[in-house]
Amino acid sequence: MTDDRLTVLVVEDNPVQARLIQGLLERSAAPSFQVELTDTLAQGIRRMEEGGVDAVLLDLMLPDSEELETFSRFHAHADETPVVILSGLDDMALAARAVEGGAQDYLVKDRIEGPALVRSLRYAIDRARARSAEWHSPMLRLAQQQFLKAAQLMGLDDNIRQRLLFPERTLLVSFPFRRDDRAEVETVFGYRVQHVLTMGPTKGGIRYHPGVNLGEVSALAMWMTWKCGLMHLPFGGAKGGVRVDPTALSRSELQRLTRRYTSEIFPIIGPERDIPAPDMGTNEQVMAWLMDTYSQQHGHAVPTVVTGKPVVLGGSLGRKEATGRGLVYLVEEAARTVGLDLEGATAVVQGFGNVGSHAARFLAEDGVKVVAVSDVSGGIHNDRGLDLEAVEAHVRENRVLQGFPEADPITNRELLELPCDVLAPCALQSQITAENASRIRCRILAEGANGPTTLEADDILTEEGVFVLPDILANAGGVTVSYFEWVQGTQNYMWTLEQINERLRQAVAAAFRRVHARSEREEVDMRTAALMEGAARVSEAKLSRGLFP
Ligand code: NAD
Repeated sequence: MTDDRLTVLVVEDNPVQARLIQGLLERSAAPSFQVELTDTLAQGIRRMEEGGVDAVLLDLMLPDSEELETFSRFHAHADETPVVILSGLDDMALAARAVEGGAQDYLVKDRIEGPALVRSLRYAIDRARARSAEWHSPMLRLAQQQFLKAAQLMGLDDNIRQRLLFPERTLLVSFPFRRDDRAEVETVFGYRVQHVLTMGPTKGGIRYHPGVNLGEVSALAMWMTWKCGLMHLPFGGAKGGVRVDPTALSRSELQRLTRRYTSEIFPIIGPERDIPAPDMGTNEQVMAWLMDTYSQQHGHAVPTVVTGKPVVLGGSLGRKEATGRGLVYLVEEAARTVGLDLEGATAVVQGFGNVGSHAARFLAEDGVKVVAVSDVSGGIHNDRGLDLEAVEAHVRENRVLQGFPEADPITNRELLELPCDVLAPCALQSQITAENASRIRCRILAEGANGPTTLEADDILTEEGVFVLPDILANAGGVTVSYFEWVQGTQNYMWTLEQINERLRQAVAAAFRRVHARSEREEVDMRTAALMEGAARVSEAKLSRGLFP
């Protein structure tokens, strides 16, 4: 659940019952509820017409309407808003028929207690959102728009174009895990999406975030396809995720969630099928649990089922920092291209997780002054440059940047608009839009995050002369070292950190040259050129494999 405060309308003519429900809901902290009471159907419908209601608790026996008619009249005015029926013990058959007709759930009034009430509403809202948003995600629309633009410009075979617009395989699961309070069982939605199965196994991270849905995971899987194609890696794109807030879970809850999610997606993953890796909200530890769960089912250790696992389990040296490191190698290439001396240049980094913190550190090692960084708690800014070791120590101790003493607080929005040489968005999607693009004042935009820039913003950045290192290139260091990890795993052979970093540098520099050359040759922006590189390779492979049957 992403919103902090949810508005619930209670349509109930028994004032004692209504106030009891109000009291139970108002005691809930996460999520917190604002409760509005009405006691007739007419009033309820009028309130719905004003908008802003997240969920409704509806009694079917009201002074101005009774039984199923109450639900159908109400539903006609609010078919998008989730409705939970308040039922008497004798009316449960009626309530079940309302659920058949579109209500999300029903609760028996005499048995209502706090956790069940809160959970019923949370799940009802979650399910209603999932139903309307699974495919209609802005991220999927962005990924498809970007692809269609590149396909058009490169004259991509129309059969291939249609084939690549949606993923080849998607798995949507809903599954339970036990909270630490053993009485509580949460049910969450999980996904694994494989976009292209043509190139070899599929490859892509797993994201734990409250905003995850099928469309978002599909967009990320599509970008993985282009990224692997562009880097000449023998993988198609995949992605997975669970719609959950990992920061609200304890370590043991996270472990139970991961193990159950792994067994749900077990049939479609494997070292030669589909190889997960970390993404937002997941890390080495999550990969270790995933690998262990998969291995338990096989009866022997299968380290190559995931990448980004701890080194002691067959992970690769340098994998954890690979995305940030690759990003900085690419910034070096871009700086040479635009004639920027990185020594003494300035940088701003949004997101201080795996990608952002490593990117900041490697930029600083290149002599760049990192003047601002941010995370979910907000940003910190110091024109003289931040002491990154002190910042990292502060985050280790406090989990977030907020409260770091030797800098001024700044919002994530303001941070993006700071004048700097290198701006690296390394957190979420859709950060640079038509609304703020003209105020972005950097020379190089290095997209560590996936999908941080909308298509309209791209046009503005091109006009302003910003040199864009697009996500599928800028953050490809992660999947490249994941590939190295998989190769080392399948050969049971370990490379040194020097070998890994040097191979990474060569791989991203070669990809940069291919993309830059295409961008000049075809007179297109760097993003379109990168997409063309990726899509051309997939198209060639698809055409040479032919069509079955
Ligand atoms: P992470 O979970 O380690 O870190 C995410 C960071 O973003 C945290 O600092 C968090 O506080 C911050 N954040 C969250 N919400 C925010 C908000 N609303 N405003 C500002 N900051 C916010 O995740 P990560 O692995 O570093 O991934 C970050 C991005 O990089 C994602 O888009 C991911 O898809 C992409 N990416 C990651 C990898 C990888 O290897 N981990 C590889 C390629 C791309």
